[in-house]
Amino acid sequence: MPPSNSNNLSADGAVVDDAADVSKALRRRNTSATCGSDDSDSSDHAPPPSVASAQSSASSSPNLTPTSSVVNLTLKEAEKTTDKREKRRLSQLSQSAAFRKEVEVDARIKYEFGGPVGVTFLMAFFPALMLYMYICLLRQSGRLANPFDAALWEDGLPHVMPTMFAAKLYLGFSAFQVLTAMTLPGIVVKGLPVPSLGGRQLEYLCNGVATWYVDLAILAVVITTGVFDMADVIDNVGPIMSVAILTSFLITIVTYSVSVVKGTTHRMSGSLPYDMFMGAVLNPRIGKLDLKMWSEIRVPWKILFLISLSAAVKDHEMNAEIALEQGLPSTMDFMGLSLPIIRTSAPILFMLLAHTLYVNACMKGEECIPTTWDIFYEKWGYMLIYWNMAGVPFSYCYSTVYLSNRAAAGDPISHSAGFTAFLFVALLAAYYVWDTANSQKNRFRMQERGTYVERRTFPQLPWGTLKNPTYIVTRHGNKLLTGGWWGVARKIHYTADLVMALSWGLITGFESPIPYFYFTFFVTVLTHRVSRDMEHCKDKYGEDWDRYTKEVPYIFIPFVF
Ligand code: NDP
Repeated sequence: MPPSNSNNLSADGAVVDDAADVSKALRRRNTSATCGSDDSDSSDHAPPPSVASAQSSASSSPNLTPTSSVVNLTLKEAEKTTDKREKRRLSQLSQSAAFRKEVEVDARIKYEFGGPVGVTFLMAFFPALMLYMYICLLRQSGRLANPFDAALWEDGLPHVMPTMFAAKLYLGFSAFQVLTAMTLPGIVVKGLPVPSLGGRQLEYLCNGVATWYVDLAILAVVITTGVFDMADVIDNVGPIMSVAILTSFLITIVTYSVSVVKGTTHRMSGSLPYDMFMGAVLNPRIGKLDLKMWSEIRVPWKILFLISLSAAVKDHEMNAEIALEQGLPSTMDFMGLSLPIIRTSAPILFMLLAHTLYVNACMKGEECIPTTWDIFYEKWGYMLIYWNMAGVPFSYCYSTVYLSNRAAAGDPISHSAGFTAFLFVALLAAYYVWDTANSQKNRFRMQERGTYVERRTFPQLPWGTLKNPTYIVTRHGNKLLTGGWWGVARKIHYTADLVMALSWGLITGFESPIPYFYFTFFVTVLTHRVSRDMEHCKDKYGEDWDRYTKEVPYIFIPFVF
């Protein structure tokens, strides 16, 4: 966000110079909200000493609540703009009860994940767990070995040490993704009004599809020319993962430090580990590139896809060599064309399909992301940085790594045609529900806000956009969808996502528990997200939410749960 040169009103009524000062002012406003009266609920944490002292300085200021300070800021924004429509929007926003509610929620600091102690543990635990799992996959045939056995680490650590080659791959890929994100064409969509920016709406360039097609074109050239051996990716997952872990720590520290130095911090608790974990800055940007959205969309899923593509290429190369030794043909005739015979095993192809569907969905529906909770509310700290830059790509890939290791060891996983077909059908059916459920709700919300853009990105599935759906009108102003999948169960898209996650495990068989990590972990993540979201919606919509839950009583599976 480029700093504004015009003046704004701070929480204590003083005029401040730029966005950084506004952020500082809001920080003080937030601390007073944390420890203050009616905004905090009983589960909010007691303020640490640094917060308490900030509170006492804030309380000596004129008696402005967090809401009134943001309203002042919003009015100031309205004064500043020369665009008449924007002026009207901001003036209306400053009067809106719904926006005041958003301001309250945005200001509230509440310890999650066990507070400072819990997050410190998580920051150390996740990298250790990922290294352990990978070493077990690679060196223990997928068996869960004793993590306290020194021999396990002595044997495994050399296989996960960062290398220059791994650094070049990971950092080169990330830099290329920054470049394409900044330069390729796409649609521009607006986010939700940001309370800490006085209701301003940030713009997001959604060119994910263009970047994805460029990636695919480059990969097609790389694979057909052999200029780079794609198998190198799957053979170096351990070192690449370590580079990713180190990079995410570095980005966390740099982002935190820069935000503190520039004074662009937001909703700070005063606990260093907690603020490192949850993040210090809400909308980190390089020019127009929103780093939080970039890391969420452009890095994890594409790396996951690359790992599976690499495993598929390696498996094909190995099987093609064997086929050649056996005198089998390497090409087949198809409508007069001589096409290469793909010799990748069905389970590895399954993982490639699963990851392709996921990455493609993220790219084609990218315009729905700017209004999500992660972008609107969560800050860019260790939680999002680590998870997107290292956690998702290198822990959701265990099924692929396991299948690839087994194939390389000459003991490939295979199933009956019936079981394999069943899993393919289950994956595609779950994908359909997941894609269309997400799309129905997101498009409904976009239509409601007047930001809907019709897209033709592949594949547009039937029932992805609802025509004249039923809904509940809330006092908040937002409508709650009760039509389409959203009338069947409140979180049916989570159920579909979980079915896909389970299928990623089932395709590896039952000899190793590690490929089921993603499913197990995902159940925990989504359970946490459901309770957090239900709490958030109840808080936001009050009795209307109760009405909605009566109308759509099931959460995950209709008539069951
Ligand atoms: P949701 O898509 O369920 O979004 C929740 C928000 O939607 C609510 O806060 C509310 O926001 C709005 N909402 C809820 N009910 C309704 C309704 N009936 N009508 C209209 N709006 C409603 O959750 P997530 O953002 O967590 O998940 C999005 C997708 O991402 C899911 O499919 C999930 O499975 C997937 N996901 C995948 C992860 C992975 O690692 N693979 C991790 C996390 C998510 P409001 O009213 O404020 O608009």
